[in-house]
Amino acid sequence: MEHIILPKENYYLLAGTLIGKDGKLKGSNMLLYIRNKVIKDIYGPVPLEQTLFLSGRKREPGDLLRTICEITKEEDIGNSSFLDCSAFTVMPGLVDCHVHLAFDGVDAAKATASWNEPESIQPLAASRFESLISNGILAIRDGGDQAGINLMLRKITQEKEIPGPSITATGNALRRRNSYGSLLDENADEDNVARLALAGVDQIKVVTSGLVSIKEYGRVGPLHFSFEDLQFIVNKAHSLGLKVMAHADSDQAVDMSLKAGIDSIEHGYYISRESMLKMAELQRCWVPTLMPVYIWTIVASVDPKYQGIAERIYRRHQEMIKQAFDMGITVGVGTDSGSPSIKHGELYYKELELYSEAGLSTEQIVRAATTNGSSITGNSPGILKGHPANLLVLEENPLQEGISAFKRIKYTLHG
Ligand SMILES: [Zn+2]
Repeated sequence: MEHIILPKENYYLLAGTLIGKDGKLKGSNMLLYIRNKVIKDIYGPVPLEQTLFLSGRKREPGDLLRTICEITKEEDIGNSSFLDCSAFTVMPGLVDCHVHLAFDGVDAAKATASWNEPESIQPLAASRFESLISNGILAIRDGGDQAGINLMLRKITQEKEIPGPSITATGNALRRRNSYGSLLDENADEDNVARLALAGVDQIKVVTSGLVSIKEYGRVGPLHFSFEDLQFIVNKAHSLGLKVMAHADSDQAVDMSLKAGIDSIEHGYYISRESMLKMAELQRCWVPTLMPVYIWTIVASVDPKYQGIAERIYRRHQEMIKQAFDMGITVGVGTDSGSPSIKHGELYYKELELYSEAGLSTEQIVRAATTNGSSITGNSPGILKGHPANLLVLEENPLQEGISAFKRIKYTLHG
């Protein structure tokens, strides 16, 4: 696997198979023209003879560029690079809609200690980014941390100090004082929404309920807000042009969040069919995050009794995810990586595997992992003219081979 940082100059990529948007095939032997990290044009299908030329079977130096000129009708394409992916499948990069970059899933105390030392957070962040990228994840949305580390890391990647994915930042999660979320935190009030907007967050994160329990099936921490207070925060965020993502672990919290105008529901364990119908009707999004519960079924130190409860919770969740797709809800893939025992990037594939096990088609899974994730995080919906080129190149075509193709990454390309 090789990560390519796209140059500003002309860049041409020949895609054997191209998956463009919504997990749909866009064509075979397509030539992407990228300039300044943006897809300027898409040509094709390129005739076989010309693809042979493009794949390096040139008779004399200069033929490659000449062939590109013929296809694109451009006269001067000097200073160009070319990547031959004629044997591969090219698709949009994967999106993880729910992570916490300030943590690593291994040692929260050590991660927290690094927050005060900018020189130690950078190498830690670099290894988290590397793990995300090597698993094909080129865009993430951060669900917040107490110190707003995600904002700092977004700046580092934007300024190209460390190669990393596109980051949708929320700064600090807003919660009710003295309730779950102390590591994510800031008190939820109008001032803090305005402060976060000024700090340049992309979205607002609100913690509307406590945590799901794996010790007692059906138990979730209490609601954090009155409906009026929650609606007030959502309205304030919307008035500033910011979408709101809500940690909502119970059906009650989901119901209240939907009524208050929340844009994306995070987790939603024990979600009811009624809430899902409402979600579909209101066209709100859902990031179900199986990993934070699934993980307890494989951590050896967890009591088998509790592992059984965790399994019951995530199995039910799988059924609801299947129903959500059938209802046409925009479901995005989120792992909650950075949370206990969930390392960045590594369990994304497992999340997809559980979708597959739930009965979803590969096309639906690809849509959730790309187009849906992009619309939830505010990124480009796919491989389209005029949009940033965040590309994943696979040795196999997932629409034919299934999601195992995501384990055979050849290249990732990012701006
Ligand atoms: Zn989270």
